[in-house]
Amino acid sequence: METMSNSIRVQRTSQSRLKEIDFSNLAFGQHIADHMIVAEYADGKWGEASVLPYGEMTMSPAILSLHYGQAIFEGMKAYKTSSGVITIFRLKRHHERMNRSLERMCMPPIPYNLFEQSLTTLIDVDRDWIPTSEGASLYIRPVVFASEARLGVKVSDQYKFVIMTSPVGPYYSKPLRVKVEETYVRAAEGGAGFAKCAGNYGVSFYPTQMARKEGFDQVLWTDAKEHKYIDEAGTMNVMFVIDGKLVTPRLTTAILDGITRDSILTLAKEMDIVVEERKVSVEELIETHKQGSLTEAFGAGTAAIVAPIATINIHGKDYTLPPTSEGSIQARVKKKLTNMRLGLEKDNHEWNFTLR
Ligand SMILES: *Cc1c(COP(=O)(O)O)cnc(C)c1O
Repeated sequence: METMSNSIRVQRTSQSRLKEIDFSNLAFGQHIADHMIVAEYADGKWGEASVLPYGEMTMSPAILSLHYGQAIFEGMKAYKTSSGVITIFRLKRHHERMNRSLERMCMPPIPYNLFEQSLTTLIDVDRDWIPTSEGASLYIRPVVFASEARLGVKVSDQYKFVIMTSPVGPYYSKPLRVKVEETYVRAAEGGAGFAKCAGNYGVSFYPTQMARKEGFDQVLWTDAKEHKYIDEAGTMNVMFVIDGKLVTPRLTTAILDGITRDSILTLAKEMDIVVEERKVSVEELIETHKQGSLTEAFGAGTAAIVAPIATINIHGKDYTLPPTSEGSIQARVKKKLTNMRLGLEKDNHEWNFTLR
């Protein structure tokens, strides 16, 4: 069956996989919903997007993204309240960040209308895939990649924009054991660390695997020049509580401008928590731990929202933090963010984009 919605063509699957999904047991990213958005860029412009049944796409192994890395993505979430209202968290900000990533990789920006319309149409078509249990959501994965097939090194003239979604359960993160990384780097200033480009993940796998072999869950990335300042925690931004203040590395071109990071900082300020965005040195962590003023550390990102860090290993030595309580800053900001999302608290910033 084909219908038109906005200017978006919708081709529905004849065989929904929805009934095969055990919604009480969802591993992150395991199931991809029935449909996907596909739009193509050629001759200097984006064509119209279509909703198609999710499935394989035929492509040449010569497509430029595979060889030269022009590929970027986003990660966001849609929620359904008990009354059936569907919201997407900070859609506009995700769109802006996607375009910053695209610009850094010499890829064409996605017009806002194309982004909003394709996303809302897709979510509407697959609305039954949005889990409703507490803490569960529909994870949304937009991706843009170079699709011109050619071997020479060049900026691609053709791209594909695809959006897929995946129902995800509440993300429980056990307190992490992380290691301050002093050998490898994820990103250097002037590089593309601030962009959500595929290559940033590729380069982080090896050091992360090494850390896992040594018994750590993640690495704490440090600056590429001196390994003296903290950048991020694995694929999350990192925050510390020092002297009761919420402290996080200030953004550089080597740090991903996380939307969870921004949301937490904004809410913390409104909760009268002192917020500091500044350089955080490895030395400071050792010192403040010794003094007992470093009381919390956690990762911040869309998947987990907040992931507590239990132990930081620095120069081979473990620095352990007290277990987190309900009164901890990370628990309080997480709750505030969750309540705002659920509409239990006023959405002063218009962060919840409501599907009509
Ligand atoms: C996506 C991402 C984050 C978190 O960003 P959110 O917008 O909060 O999900 C942090 N660091 C890296 C490297 C990332 O790719």
